[in-house]
Amino acid sequence: MKTKLGLLYGGKSAEHKVSLQTALAVIRALDLEKFEIHPIYINVEGQWIKGPELSGPVDNVKALEFSNDNQLSPLSLAPSLFHAEKQEAPLDVIFPLLHGPNGEDGTVQGLLELLNVPYVGNGVLASAAGMDKVMMKNVFAQAGLAQVNYVAFIKSEWEHSKEEAYSKVEAELGFPCFVKPANLGSSVGISKCTNRAELETAFVEAFQFDRKVIIEEGVVAREIEVGILGNDYPECSIPGEIVPKTDFYDYKAKYEDGDTALIIPADIKDEEYEQIKEMAIQAFKALDCSGLVRADFFLTKDGKALINEVNTMPGFTPFSMFPLLWKHTGVEYPQLIERLVELAKERHQEKQ
Ligand code: ADP
Ligand code: MG
Ligand code: MG
Repeated sequence: MKTKLGLLYGGKSAEHKVSLQTALAVIRALDLEKFEIHPIYINVEGQWIKGPELSGPVDNVKALEFSNDNQLSPLSLAPSLFHAEKQEAPLDVIFPLLHGPNGEDGTVQGLLELLNVPYVGNGVLASAAGMDKVMMKNVFAQAGLAQVNYVAFIKSEWEHSKEEAYSKVEAELGFPCFVKPANLGSSVGISKCTNRAELETAFVEAFQFDRKVIIEEGVVAREIEVGILGNDYPECSIPGEIVPKTDFYDYKAKYEDGDTALIIPADIKDEEYEQIKEMAIQAFKALDCSGLVRADFFLTKDGKALINEVNTMPGFTPFSMFPLLWKHTGVEYPQLIERLVELAKERHQEKQ
C-alpha cells in the first residue's frame, strides 16, 4: 500500500519562495512506488489550495503554484471529512514544508492535531517554544545548557522607559550585542550593535517585526550546526560549520549572496563534537521535540560550546545544511524524507 502523503507548502510568510523550492525537491526525491503525492499549496494570501494528485515529477515551481479556484478548507483535511463526497481515502501523513511564523510556530501543528492527522516534525509545544527565542532560551537555561546572556522586553515596557531598557542592556550585556525580534527566523530584523546609537536603531527595527525582542551578548565564535533525527531516541548527525562572508550570518548571506561556505564535516576536535552532540540531544529533549531539529551552536576559541538556537523546521532543500549533514552521515535525501514520514506515523500511533 502506498502512503498518501500531503505536502503543505508555500505559506503566508517571508519564506514562501524557499518553501516552494523545498516542495519541488521533495517531490522529485519521492519514490512513486511508495508514495502518492497530494500537494496542498498555501498562497501568499494564506488561502489553502488543493492540487491534483501528482503522478510524476514536476519541472518547476510554477507547476506547484495553483490558482485559487480549487480552494480547500483546512478543516476538510480531517480524516472523517476528507473528500467524503468523492469517497476519497484520507491522507496518511502531512509534511508541513513551512518555515517561520504560521508554519513552524505550532499554529499549523495545532490545526493538524485537532484534525487528528499524522504530520511530520515537531508538535505544538516544541514548535511554539522553538520559534520564540525568549521561551527557548528560558527552557535551555532551566536545562542547564550553556548559552549567551540575554535580556528581553515587550514593546510596551520599552515604550514606557526606553532609557531604562538601554541602560539595562548596557549594564548587563555591554557591546557588541545582538537585538532580535523574539519570533522570527532567517535573520530578519536582527542587528548587531556596537554602541548606544546603534542599539536605539536596532530596537526600533526589531519592534517592527514583533511585540517582543531579545537582546543577547555578542560572542566571537565559530558557528557549528548538527542535525537531530528521531522521536524518543534522537540521533545526531556529524557537525557542519557555517562561514559567512559578511559580519554575521544575516538575511542577505542566507538567501541572496550564496557565498556563505557550508563546511561538512566541520573541522572540530572530537571532544568539541561530543560536547555539542550531548547538548543538542539535551536541547531536543528539553523542548520535547520530535522528528527533526537543527541545533545551532557557537564554539568559542577556548573550545566551549554555547547553544544559539534550535530550528524546528530547518531549511530542507537538498542544498540546505540539515539534509547535507544527514547525507554526509549516510542518510541520502530520499531516505531522510522516508524516515521522517515513518517517525510521524510512529508518533501518531503512540498518541492514540
Ligand atoms: P535566526 O533564527 O534568524 O537564524 P539567529 O539567532 O541564529 O537568528 O541569528 C542569526 C545570526 O546572527 C547567527 O547565525 C550569527 O551569525 C549571528 N548572531 C546571532 N546572535 C549572536 C550572538 N549572540 N553573538 C554572535 N553572533 C550572533
Ligand atoms: Mg532560527
Ligand atoms: Mg539561526
